[in-house]
Amino acid sequence: MMKVTEKNIANRETDFLIVGQGLAGTMLAFELHRRGKNFVVVDSPSGEKVSRVAAGIINPVVFRRLTKSWLVDDLFPVLKDTYHELEKLLSCHLLHTLKINKILGKEEGSFWRTKTVENKLEAYIHTEPNTYFSKNGIVAPYGVGKVFNAFRADLPMLIDRFREFLIQEDRFIGKEVDTKDVITENEKVQWKNIAAQKIIFCQGFRASDNPFFQPVKFKHTKGQVLDLNIPDLEITNMVNKGMFVLPLGENRFRAGATYRWEFQDTNPDDEATAELTGKMEKIVKVPYSITGKRAGIRPTTHDRRPVVGLHPDTPEIGIFNGLGSKGAMLAPFFAREFARLLCGESDTIHPEVNLLRYYGKK
Ligand SMILES: Cc1cc2nc3c(=O)[nH]c(=O)nc-3n(C[C@H](O)[C@H](O)[C@H](O)COP(=O)(O)OP(=O)(O)OC[C@H]3O[C@@H](n4cnc5c(N)ncnc54)[C@H](O)[C@@H]3O)c2cc1C
Repeated sequence: MMKVTEKNIANRETDFLIVGQGLAGTMLAFELHRRGKNFVVVDSPSGEKVSRVAAGIINPVVFRRLTKSWLVDDLFPVLKDTYHELEKLLSCHLLHTLKINKILGKEEGSFWRTKTVENKLEAYIHTEPNTYFSKNGIVAPYGVGKVFNAFRADLPMLIDRFREFLIQEDRFIGKEVDTKDVITENEKVQWKNIAAQKIIFCQGFRASDNPFFQPVKFKHTKGQVLDLNIPDLEITNMVNKGMFVLPLGENRFRAGATYRWEFQDTNPDDEATAELTGKMEKIVKVPYSITGKRAGIRPTTHDRRPVVGLHPDTPEIGIFNGLGSKGAMLAPFFAREFARLLCGESDTIHPEVNLLRYYGKK
């Protein structure tokens, strides 16, 4: 197949131009593909995207309060269907089942039992904690509570394989989009040689600089994870206690994650490394070595809900963003909802994620 270049996309007409091929852009493009729509994806050649940093953990439970994660009963069926359809399209394994052992504190066992029932969590976690949990290398004197219905999505593989698919389909352009080159007229949008019905920005944290969406209140968070080698750690399920340690096979583990609201850049830093190793050494009591450090900026809004929709005054321009720390779980559902709107199958967007909340309209 021929690679797409500026030359061979000259004067192209399309239904949708998607800017950004992280998780948001990938999921939206997939939903448009499923609907047989014509689209082109443009992604910056810099290659920087937080979707490559993410561990891809899909946890249905908020441990602090032991409640369901927001909308989880609606999100789970859609995400399972979407990742499985993507696996068929891309011939790879993307969605892995995951069990999470939450290490309990002294008084937490009875809290776990009560809240499981009170908050109707039985479809996701075992009511009864395991007070005899014993694994070489893990400190859990009061046992663990088990989440049995969780997942890990392989986001780097999804991005890479979907990129190959886009290139084969002649739908990919590796360019930086300067919003000064985006012109709307006659209910169409023009970017360089491409005329589209709509342009949808899926830019991750860089949406803050987008002049079309200045009223959106972003409050991004920087995060870091560590790649580790721990030969004597026996676990095959993820453990969590204020942080996660995720087994990846062959003595490889990932540990994370930090949250910072003030930051200067997207690089890993010593402070975050120290925070993670400090927390980890309270639960992992065997020697380890750090084999890698990754950091990125989670695109987050002021109310920690995604932001989805078309501009109220210029409906040729839209946004799909604000996936925060739960992109792997949220993106399939809201990409589908947005694609339905874009394709005229529906005229609503969930009010809590609707872009119009920032424009005083609902
Ligand atoms: C340490 C850490 C751990 C995480 N772990 C998890 C986890 O376990 N589970 C989970 O669900 N989520 C996790 N996340 C969050 C997850 O990474 C995000 O929710 C998700 O990846 C956001 O995807 P995105 O597509 O919005 O952004 P990105 O992946 O950043 O993609 C945006 C894309 O737009 C491109 N772009 C921007 N501007 C332009 C332009 N002008 N022209 C062309 N291209 C442009 C960028 O180059 C990039 O490719 C984690 C995040 C961090 C930092």
